[in-house]
Amino acid sequence: QVIYLNGDYVSKENAKVSVFDHGFLYGDGIFEGIRIYNGNIFKCKEHLDRLYDSAKSIMLDIPLSYDEMEKALIETIRRNELSDGYIRLVVSRGPGNLGLDPKRCPQAWVIIIVEQLAIYPAEAYRDGLVSVSVSQRRNIPDALNPKIKSLNYLNNILVKIQANLAGVGEAIMLNAQGYVAEGSSDNIFIIKRGVVYTPPCYVGALEGITRATIIELCGKLGYTLKEEPFTLHDVYVADEVFFTGTAAEVIAVREVDGRTIGGGKAGPITTHLLEEFRKTVEVDGVK
Ligand code: PLP
Repeated sequence: QVIYLNGDYVSKENAKVSVFDHGFLYGDGIFEGIRIYNGNIFKCKEHLDRLYDSAKSIMLDIPLSYDEMEKALIETIRRNELSDGYIRLVVSRGPGNLGLDPKRCPQAWVIIIVEQLAIYPAEAYRDGLVSVSVSQRRNIPDALNPKIKSLNYLNNILVKIQANLAGVGEAIMLNAQGYVAEGSSDNIFIIKRGVVYTPPCYVGALEGITRATIIELCGKLGYTLKEEPFTLHDVYVADEVFFTGTAAEVIAVREVDGRTIGGGKAGPITTHLLEEFRKTVEVDGVK
């Protein structure tokens, strides 16, 4: 495995970060998770746009231009000889001192890790996941804006811990007002009487790139899509529920908090959207 570390390509053993790195000390940085399908970087521009927007919002200077970053991604993939996999792109504030002040961090660090992906087994896409709602609340725009894909993922990790305690793969997080926001690392959709709903991002959700792809696909396939806040009640009585994310793609949910969703397996619209999504990923992307 070859890792990109600030312009160098190093082995996994030599890919080391300083204990004074503010990404490590404070979660001060941003990241992206990106898929490679058939040797193509899926939605590369969208991921880089989100990365550079997150950087601008937190006043982090990425030391690479957009084109240089794209080249670094391509070269890291080439050196790892992977045609299908997952890219983790991290930009941390870089090494500083023990104080919070980012002025003490003269150079941001860029790290690119490319890996094979361990995703849900094929049956999970047919049978659906069991999920639960958790007490952890999603931070909303008056705190750290959920549009920023920051390295500060403790909130999401606490959701994952609650999912683990419940023995489920993904959990549902509400916002402080009790509206459904998203999963620990996935966006959520529900379907009722043929209409597809997903929470608007202001409710407290990342502007997921898979989410955007599904919204676009709904348009193309003629499904009505509404970005509307909804509650757990709406989830319980939905005909279909699914999560979307770079790693999970489009995965059905068959049970939430003990309530069986629809027919208790991946429903017809979810299955259709997954099929069309998989066709899209095969043709889209940067070589
Ligand atoms: N929500 C959160 C909190 C995430 O971390 C992710 C993963 O990146 C998603 C949603 C899904 O976003 P995307 O489809 O861009 O991977």
